[in-house]
Amino acid sequence: MKFSFRILKKERKSQARRGLVKTRRGEIRTPCFVPVATKGALKGTSFDAVNKMGAEIFMVNTFHLFCNQRYKEIAKFKGLNNFLKIKYPLMTDSGGFQVFSLGSGWEYGVGKIAKKEGLYEKKEGKVKISDDGVIFRSPYNGDKLEMTPEISIKVQEKLGADIIFAFDECTSPLDSYEYHKESLQRTNDWAQRCLNAFKAKNQVMMGIIQGGEYQDLRKESASFINSLPFFGFAIGGSFGGSFGDSKSQLNKVLDWVNPILDESKPRHLLGIGEPDDILEAVARGIDLFDCVVPTRWARHGTALTRKGRVNIKSLKYLKSKKPIDDKCNCYVCQRYPAAYISHLIKEKEIYGMMLLTDHNLHWILNFMAEIRKSIKDSRFTEFKKKFLSCYKRN
Ligand SMILES: [Zn+2]
Repeated sequence: MKFSFRILKKERKSQARRGLVKTRRGEIRTPCFVPVATKGALKGTSFDAVNKMGAEIFMVNTFHLFCNQRYKEIAKFKGLNNFLKIKYPLMTDSGGFQVFSLGSGWEYGVGKIAKKEGLYEKKEGKVKISDDGVIFRSPYNGDKLEMTPEISIKVQEKLGADIIFAFDECTSPLDSYEYHKESLQRTNDWAQRCLNAFKAKNQVMMGIIQGGEYQDLRKESASFINSLPFFGFAIGGSFGGSFGDSKSQLNKVLDWVNPILDESKPRHLLGIGEPDDILEAVARGIDLFDCVVPTRWARHGTALTRKGRVNIKSLKYLKSKKPIDDKCNCYVCQRYPAAYISHLIKEKEIYGMMLLTDHNLHWILNFMAEIRKSIKDSRFTEFKKKFLSCYKRN
């Protein structure tokens, strides 16, 4: 079975496109949301349940399975699909982002989109980055570990996901231009080394575009990665920091990068998944998103709704006989009042987190289905405008 990507429809008013990725394990309709099963589980729900909600591919994080050496046990099962007992297409990331979050990112307390608070909470760096690779301490037992492009690819081949990612360095938005330039050279060298090391016939690899918030570096990165024989592209990095509004920075980066990329290949935006960001990125030609937002928020009592993210623990919801989102057709909203979910979450009942996880995943997967339908019907730009007029980001 050959892997392929085909564009089925493009919108005229934007660069939004509807497409189809084919893998040996199944087809993925794009634009699509990829739920994250960090260590091989979706934290509070099952792969089968989320597949029924519309998820066609899942992401597993290489970093954890590498640090605890569990990939060696998984290899004895001939890969993640046999180990997890699922037939759905899978992705594994390279471990690069976690190296970043354990290193330079955490030093400043910065996430994927930097927020003002905590920017300067400098913590002790735990990683040593060189041109060869990264040496760091295992968060499991403190052992010294080394990750290189060759090791990342070897581990990802053993995990056996359909789509894998090149190993990159993800910089902090607070790093200097000079550091970003040096880091980009490394990421580019590592991209070539990943391709050289990649031997598997039944997997495809995405190349990663970095360059921080610098137009020249982002364009250089896009041109270089575009020149290599990757299956598709992933746009990495974190946004914001001392450069102003982080959301417009994300949009600007996509505006610089996407026109350079071969439009016949799929484009993945790494780690971004809030509804308004998804709409802006789809409008700029992004096809795939992975993010822990729906599942992580659920565990903390935050629900995705058409009006924005809401804190289900607030008194308003504890007293509400209405569903979490009265337009949502998930089984949770069909059956339970928000008051019940609010009560369970406040009492830290596991079942409350499970219900909210299912609502949030259903909500975002349904949102992606609406996006695809709107592109099919040539009305994505109107859909986006209407959605954003109700959705409040806070
Ligand atoms: Zn719902």
